[in-house]
Amino acid sequence: MKFAFTPEQEQFRSELTGFLRGEGLPRDERGDGFDQAFSKRMSAHGYVGAAWPREFGGRGLGPIEQMIYTEEMILHDAPRGYHFTAERQVGPSLIRHGTDAQKREWLPRIVNADVSFALGLSEPGAGSDLAAAATRAQRDGDEYVVNGQKIWTSNGHLCDAIWLVVRTDPDAPKHRGISCLMVDLKSPGITIRPLYDLTGEHHFNEVFFEDVRVPVDRRVGEENRGWYILAEHLDFERSGIERLVDLDRLFQRVMAAAGEVAARGQLSDPLRWRLAELKVGLEVGRLLCFRTAYLQSVGKVPNYEASMAKVYGTEWSQRMMAVAMQMIGLDGAAHEDGTLAQSIATGYRGAVSRTIAGGTSEIQRNIVANRGLGLPRS
Ligand SMILES: Cc1cc2nc3c(=O)[nH]c(=O)nc-3n(C[C@H](O)[C@H](O)[C@H](O)COP(=O)(O)OP(=O)(O)OC[C@H]3O[C@@H](n4cnc5c(N)ncnc54)[C@H](O)[C@@H]3O)c2cc1C
Repeated sequence: MKFAFTPEQEQFRSELTGFLRGEGLPRDERGDGFDQAFSKRMSAHGYVGAAWPREFGGRGLGPIEQMIYTEEMILHDAPRGYHFTAERQVGPSLIRHGTDAQKREWLPRIVNADVSFALGLSEPGAGSDLAAAATRAQRDGDEYVVNGQKIWTSNGHLCDAIWLVVRTDPDAPKHRGISCLMVDLKSPGITIRPLYDLTGEHHFNEVFFEDVRVPVDRRVGEENRGWYILAEHLDFERSGIERLVDLDRLFQRVMAAAGEVAARGQLSDPLRWRLAELKVGLEVGRLLCFRTAYLQSVGKVPNYEASMAKVYGTEWSQRMMAVAMQMIGLDGAAHEDGTLAQSIATGYRGAVSRTIAGGTSEIQRNIVANRGLGLPRS
């Protein structure tokens, strides 16, 4: 069977790559891909929200084009941190569940790259079991008063707003007492503290809420029905091709390391076979990602298919980085001087979090087992 993009999709890819090459991509000084000025340039050329329907400021492109877009952004190392979450998750949720007033206010701000969103889902006692979220939002007239704590909030220190999962009815069964709020991160009562990951970088945070007042019109969807919005939200997140495409860049580094091993005459047959397997795995993973986009393009909501792509891509990346570490050796991992070995060692440590972020491998496997294979819940 041959998989191919349509001429229109190829045309879209070449238009986008032309734009990205012509833009003189900015240096990602902080390494977080967070650059509002660049997002605004993308917006001016109609790329932010391009996959949204035209009536909401998009170009009505389909899910396959959206994946091509993500793929090229990553392959070109284009900063997308500023608009990414708002474009991929917040906007589509607003389009489906927001009021007309919310759509009028927020969608243009997202498309124009005037607002960036962090995701406030996880809490110290609610990660995989998101329905256990305890951050409380109590109604007081036309405001909510929010108290509680979120954790692992990526880019929370850089974003303007946070998509916040809160408990609005503590007495209801846990899936039925949850709501989603959009909260300005500059609101009085919010404290953001940095957390450092295994690579020593600060990209995620703890966010504390103390009597934070949020207007009721910042709630998306009905009160206490937030769980259903979230379930869709997570499907948008899991189907992202970034799981695999950025691995292509890591794979290029692995091949560069293999070149060094070969130059020393040490590229054994078993190592060659491992590299060949990794390359095959990379292509399979990419197809799994495009399969989720294909399903969306024919009107289906991928869930276990997206979980398959996520487990496969993230676990494959850990295998790949383990092979790379074998090649550079443990002493290579000690380098801190901008060498290939250092970037591989950082990639190896960074790969650990991939099977956790966006839902752990165990949770994804449960989804595949229940919804894909129809097995009973344990
Ligand atoms: C790089 C990174 C970025 C992140 N960014 C964000 C962000 O921006 N916003 C945000 O809200 N969160 C973010 N997270 C948090 C992430 O969503 C959670 O870490 C993840 O959902 C797991 O939750 P947890 O850490 O509480 O682990 P837990 O849920 O406590 O899980 C601990 C272990 O138990 C296993 N486990 C739990 N339940 C089950 C089950 N039912 N069956 C089998 N095994 C189970 C898990 O697989 C895991 O191995 C980020 C995490 C990482 C690593």
